[in-house]
Amino acid sequence: MTTTLQGTPVVPGIGYGPVVRPAPRPTVSGIAAEVPEARREAERDRFRTAVTAVAARLEERAERASGQAAEVLRTTALMAQDPTLATAVEGAIGTGTPAVQAVVSATEQFTTMFATAGGLMAERVTDLEDIRDRVVSALLGLPEPGVPAPEVPSVLLADDLAPADTALLDPQVVVALATRLGGPTSHTAIIARQLGIPCVVAVTGLEDIAAGTMVLVDGDTGTVVADPDEDDALEQVGAASARAVEAARWRGRGQTADAHAVDLMANVADGAAAREAAAGVAQGVGLFRTELGFLSASSEPSIAQQTAIYAGVIEAFPDAKVVVRTLDAGSDKPLVYAGLPEEANPALGVRGLRIALDDPGILDRQLDAIAAAAERSHGPVWVMAPMVATVAEAAFFAERVRSRGLVPGVMIEVPAAALLAEALLAEVDFVSIGTNDLTQYTMAADRLSPSLAVLSDPWQPAVLTLVRLTAEAGQRVGKPVGVCGEAAADPLLACVLVGLGVTSLSAAAAALPAVGARLAGVTLATCQEAAQAALATTDPAAAREAARAILDAG
Ligand code: PEP
Ligand code: MG
Repeated sequence: MTTTLQGTPVVPGIGYGPVVRPAPRPTVSGIAAEVPEARREAERDRFRTAVTAVAARLEERAERASGQAAEVLRTTALMAQDPTLATAVEGAIGTGTPAVQAVVSATEQFTTMFATAGGLMAERVTDLEDIRDRVVSALLGLPEPGVPAPEVPSVLLADDLAPADTALLDPQVVVALATRLGGPTSHTAIIARQLGIPCVVAVTGLEDIAAGTMVLVDGDTGTVVADPDEDDALEQVGAASARAVEAARWRGRGQTADAHAVDLMANVADGAAAREAAAGVAQGVGLFRTELGFLSASSEPSIAQQTAIYAGVIEAFPDAKVVVRTLDAGSDKPLVYAGLPEEANPALGVRGLRIALDDPGILDRQLDAIAAAAERSHGPVWVMAPMVATVAEAAFFAERVRSRGLVPGVMIEVPAAALLAEALLAEVDFVSIGTNDLTQYTMAADRLSPSLAVLSDPWQPAVLTLVRLTAEAGQRVGKPVGVCGEAAADPLLACVLVGLGVTSLSAAAAALPAVGARLAGVTLATCQEAAQAALATTDPAAAREAARAILDAG
């Protein structure tokens, strides 16, 4: 019998095959007997051997991987050997706790701490639990938990996946992925996007589909169909791969079928990514996330060092527009040298532009460096501030940016800013909507929470309504309104955003051809009609389907 489950689509495409599931995680229960003093040193050695074996296996897999996957595996291997964790485990063994229980309790100590810290730290919880399970399995002589290597192309279903599980997935063998938990910004989603594996997250009822069942995962609509009609499934897979091949070949400037121009810009974090983007279809940089290069810096880079880094991006697009975002420090992006206070709710705390309001030194030095780098460009360099909530903040920022001969703008990431977009635009020359944070703050849902994927969906009609208000404000005053959150990478949503009045789209360079291809196939009027249809719904899945029906027909 065919069963259809619904989730949140995160990577487009269609995959069909038998279900495989990750090998079970080891369970540790009961109270273990104390290790006699004479055997404690040997127990410590057992722990050290297990950790070394786990780290070696991860390193070995890193050698076989490349790019972000290799990076993830190396980081996990390093975390496994973290001396703080080892000290906690060995300390417990020293008091007679068996190695297995010592690993479990020490990990719990750290995961509780990380979960409380929230943001990027909370993301580490899955990584640490993964390391715990690998070490415990090694201690118990069990096979390593995690994703199996299936012999035939298969669909991987799981509760959630650890980075080390996802990093080595082979798109030839794992043809689609679906998870019960996990949001659009989870590790699973990021790696699946990088590998181009169709992926759906937050699927209710997924646990009921047994291994071996044939399933069809649709990363465009978010459906997972168990036991579909085979001919129908194969036809859908064929059509989806033909569409993907065609989209990847798309070249050109962003515009609709009736020549309504929409700049397609790249989101980058450094010069290398900017150069890669320049080799593709990107017409410029729509979001340079400057803080990402400094996450491991213990002290503020000098103005000269910063200038060199910014110039690396600006010079990749010598004649095109580059939008530099000033430091978005805080919350999910802690910057050591920003002097961030300890706060219970860092996402609602001193972050983004707020770090500069009382003490603008860091901001001023960054703006000096951006201005110096901009002198090396023939194209316009625009500068925008993250996390702006008030008109006064926009004015504060604009004055500093203009005094250096640069063009000021602000991000629309807070509902307050969307609601007062016209007043903000009286202070600055452009705005760019950060749909990731705008969704988080509109829906009051932590963007990293694996349990809140449905709320973290930029198709939420409330979020679309705020995009509409912002775009309309831009149209009234004749100033550009871009989108630079993940929403711009979704070809269907990109058409809706254009229909709402957005003038440019900025996304990871790899996502741009599919966005350009989709946009080139529809008129502005169709985009507007799709936008109206999406706005008329009351939930994200209905918004997506309403827009799809119109865009597919148009
Ligand atoms: C956003 O919030 O949508 C955005 C682009 O900023 P970041 O993802 O860096 O917070
Ligand atoms: Mg943001």
